Amino acid sequence: MKYSISQIADMIGVRLPHASGRCIDTLLTDSRSLSRPESSLFFAIHTASNDGHKYIRDLYERGVRAFVTDHWDPQWRDMDADFIISPNGALDAMQRFIGAHRRLLTNSRIIGITGSRGKTTLKEWLNTLISPDMKVTRSPRSYNSQIGVPLSLWRIGNDTEIALIEAGISRPGEMSRLATIIDPDIVVITNIHDDHADSFSSAEEKCAEKLLLARGASFIICSADDPIVYSALKQMSSNSHHLFTWSLSDNPEARLNFRLKKTADNRLSLTVEDASGHTAVTMIGNDDPVYIENVCHSAAVMASLGYEASIIADRTSKLAPVNTRTDVVEGTQGSLIIRDRYDTDADSLGPALDFMKRRVTDPALTTVILDLPERSTYQPDQFVEMASELSARNIQTLIMIGNCPEKLSAIMSEAVPSVISFESLSSLITAIDRLKEITAGHIVLIKGSDSSLDSVAEALQARRHETRLEVNLDALVDNYNFYRRQLKDQHTGIVCMIKASGYGAGSYELARTLQSQGAAYLAVAVLDEGTELRRAGITMPIMVLNPRVVNYDELFSSHLEPEIFSFDELEAIVAAARRRGISQYPVHIKLDTGMHRLGFIGDEIPELIRKLNEQNEVRPVTVFSHLAAADEPALDDFTREQLSAFEKWSKILRDEWPDIKRHILNSTGITRFPEGQYELVRLGICLYGVSTLDDGSQADLRPVSSLSTSVIALRDWPAGTTIGYGRRGVCCYPTRVATIPVGYADGINRHLGNGAMQVAINGHRCPTIGNICMDACMIDVTACGDDVRVGDRVEIFGKNIPVTELSDTLGTIPYEILTSVSTRVKRVYYRE
Ligand SMILES: *Cc1c(COP(=O)(O)O)cnc(C)c1O
Repeated sequence: MKYSISQIADMIGVRLPHASGRCIDTLLTDSRSLSRPESSLFFAIHTASNDGHKYIRDLYERGVRAFVTDHWDPQWRDMDADFIISPNGALDAMQRFIGAHRRLLTNSRIIGITGSRGKTTLKEWLNTLISPDMKVTRSPRSYNSQIGVPLSLWRIGNDTEIALIEAGISRPGEMSRLATIIDPDIVVITNIHDDHADSFSSAEEKCAEKLLLARGASFIICSADDPIVYSALKQMSSNSHHLFTWSLSDNPEARLNFRLKKTADNRLSLTVEDASGHTAVTMIGNDDPVYIENVCHSAAVMASLGYEASIIADRTSKLAPVNTRTDVVEGTQGSLIIRDRYDTDADSLGPALDFMKRRVTDPALTTVILDLPERSTYQPDQFVEMASELSARNIQTLIMIGNCPEKLSAIMSEAVPSVISFESLSSLITAIDRLKEITAGHIVLIKGSDSSLDSVAEALQARRHETRLEVNLDALVDNYNFYRRQLKDQHTGIVCMIKASGYGAGSYELARTLQSQGAAYLAVAVLDEGTELRRAGITMPIMVLNPRVVNYDELFSSHLEPEIFSFDELEAIVAAARRRGISQYPVHIKLDTGMHRLGFIGDEIPELIRKLNEQNEVRPVTVFSHLAAADEPALDDFTREQLSAFEKWSKILRDEWPDIKRHILNSTGITRFPEGQYELVRLGICLYGVSTLDDGSQADLRPVSSLSTSVIALRDWPAGTTIGYGRRGVCCYPTRVATIPVGYADGINRHLGNGAMQVAINGHRCPTIGNICMDACMIDVTACGDDVRVGDRVEIFGKNIPVTELSDTLGTIPYEILTSVSTRVKRVYYRE
């Protein structure tokens, strides 16, 4: 799709000083996704945590010539570029533009999908079900937000017959905007759950908001068995022939009556009905209620599109769960492996490549492995689209798996310098050593839904030790956003504490993720942690909290901002900066308001101000202090004294430097003492999903790290047998004992032996038996009965066993458990 700048300005409703015929085919909202500078239009969007206007100069230098901004800045005078100035902001402008664009899309029918759960699965399934007959375009991955929805609609081509657009909201008022842009022909409401993760006061309120999407739709699909959705819908739509509801319980008001039955061999069969009342039977491969609900929604959408029952039954019987999880792990020979389990197609390739590109330091070292499954029939235009996604991001090596006609692989060869084809997955696996050579030092994206690709990813991994610390990057983002919502002032920034290697989770991937969320600062403990992040390409501001910088060259050249806590240290950095001719270097002033560890006290402030004023080498950008007992209500009086000392002392500094920002709250403080949020807050342990309070206020936090391993041996012992060193474990009954390959060298404290700790196996809790060894320990799995096998996953902490359970047992705090997981344990980062 292409428009000229003048056309776009008209569609937004902005007058340009002069007409411009510059042609635009790419909408850019994130400067890191730049791939076609000359035909991109950059929307300088202002979000709570970031401001797109910051990137205009840089993008101009990289060749972008068209911008949408909310004001005119004389600094841009020298640029030979088009500016569309939209006083309501660039996001509003993008939504208006896409709204106008959508009204011209008369060839496509748009299916809007909303609800609490299952949206992505439903979207993927509908794509599978309908694409044999019609050209389908769908929102990539989770492009369902105020920004994602317009970008999804922009992907709709002239030849698109059906567009599947996901709409997600988290606060009141958002759906109304999305509804205007999407203006769907058909709407599916999957279900509404009150999951507290948003700002709605009740499921009913959320439902009413979501239903706004359906205002102008000709068909609305939902379950007539869902009390919240269905009753809200009946109130809204007096015209019931618009409703394409289904029921599994003979609800007489439902348009479609489906029937679920258990067959003699214990499988589930579903009788589906089409619009003309014919029925057919499909088999369901999974008894999860959300899964079944999604099959019903899929069948109802097909019925609304006029499919016959026999085809609906035939196609829905072939559906399989959608796996959208993406893992990032270290590979052999310095490579980094990204395993994306989403299908391979043009819609989902772009976002996967963007995710990859954010990790790239040397563009020459990029490999993409694409699985082209036979069941999908790839059309040449799909290939052209995929090829242009690859070439726009300068991918160097492409490895294709699958029987690909010559004509199609020629398209790829034009786009990517080196293309290697393998006929099948097994031929690739036989050539794994060659693959390791090719990808040494590369960032490797492995894309495709075939689970055999996991073994390719596995073979390329550096550490294949079964024990892994899995780090859920989506949970990290959810926790980060949870705290964003706790801030009284949208402009308060978050300093994310990733000291001690991200509380044990590993700092690099976390830093990447937080950088793209627009966090204000990262804070590390020591200089080396900061330089490593810089080397890996982290560009956001980083403060270094820890005492004593020794290598000033590294500090300055890596743009790491130190904390200053004493006069000695101030003098040392000023002298070091002077020798190097550096001026105005940003530093952070630490005050000691009661922790009595490090920092200036009130009496020293006049002298501190004098010393700072006598020089020009460093410039205080923030002033901060640390609470000693934010999580101990009994000590709140002390905490309030700290807060008031901070208020008073920081004011003296602010009188001198009005721009200086203030921060004093740690995770627990953010919710307990909101009056102290100031310009910045420092988020640590709760970012990782560990609760510090029992009052329920942190119930929505999601654990980020989970330590797991697998059973490597299993044996039954008679009563009286002893287990392990010193014969300390005694079987008091006939006991089934599993051995797992984690020990104190991995960070499992030896005090956790002899039943002190329980692990989770297949939903059972099982205690240790005997002493913990260096590299292994033994578990009494008698409670599992036959429900345990060699190779089964064992959780040490995570979803089932909170970290706090281990720290309570050991009489310590969760921080220590998290940071004790040894570096030899493989870290696996994933998105859900
Ligand atoms: C570690 C640390 C924090 C974070 O504390 P949490 O309790 O993990 O939120 C904040 N400020 C400073 C100075 C720290 O050292």
